[in-house]
Amino acid sequence: MSKLQTEVHKEFPDKNKLVQWRGGGYDGCIWEPSTGFFDDKGQWVPVISRGAGKRDTLEEFNAKRKSETQYWRAAKGGKAADIVYSITKEGLLEFQLNIREDYFMETLRKLEDSGYPVYWKCSCCNDVQEGLDSFHGFASYRGDGGVGIIHSDPICVDCSERTQCCNCGERCGTQELVSVSGDLWCPDCLKVVVEAKATPEEHKLLETLESDLKRFQEQTLQYCELMPNIKTDIWAQYRKACEALETERENILYAVVTRG
Ligand SMILES: [Zn+2]
Ligand SMILES: [Zn+2]
Repeated sequence: MSKLQTEVHKEFPDKNKLVQWRGGGYDGCIWEPSTGFFDDKGQWVPVISRGAGKRDTLEEFNAKRKSETQYWRAAKGGKAADIVYSITKEGLLEFQLNIREDYFMETLRKLEDSGYPVYWKCSCCNDVQEGLDSFHGFASYRGDGGVGIIHSDPICVDCSERTQCCNCGERCGTQELVSVSGDLWCPDCLKVVVEAKATPEEHKLLETLESDLKRFQEQTLQYCELMPNIKTDIWAQYRKACEALETERENILYAVVTRG
């Protein structure tokens, strides 16, 4: 758990704070994540606030926060249900890791419309983007377990145009290409370079990383299928583990591909 997530707020309203809470539950066990924020004047602005868990006014916010926090404390051993983020670059990037990305982008849109600079990470090049002008769309989607669709993997305009391997020029889906310090490689070219230039230690490390990554990705997916609308707690931990492994893999690959 990061510092941001365990930040405890005794009193609301606050200023420049984004709140994510467990909204209305349906189908027995599926809870929809909800969002809203306190602006620079301390006004409550609900963004994704629907159904039984909605918090449309400050009064409703405080009343439900109190009863739900008590409920989750009792049910989950002291853990409050709300997650509070500062509306800053750091806070928004943390938020992206904790919520389904279509809701993330919807919340960002509202923040940007309210005059905040907003930040998000492109799932293809991993570059942090400022503002939504560079948001091209989502690279993938899946069912939500019911009738809905969850869009994920936001990509930037540059990546939507850059779908070619930097080495052989072959066109690939953005999901297949591997970003190595901004350059996109197709799996075939990367394999050839690794075979030729990687040390035995790097080979072994890459193999381990690959299999760990696969395992974590499967667990993330499995968890999503089970509880498609909750993207907190376990899901976020899996996703953070995947991110860490991907970064480690990229560092090794960068050393390999830039080796003379
Ligand atoms: Zn990108
Ligand atoms: Zn290639």
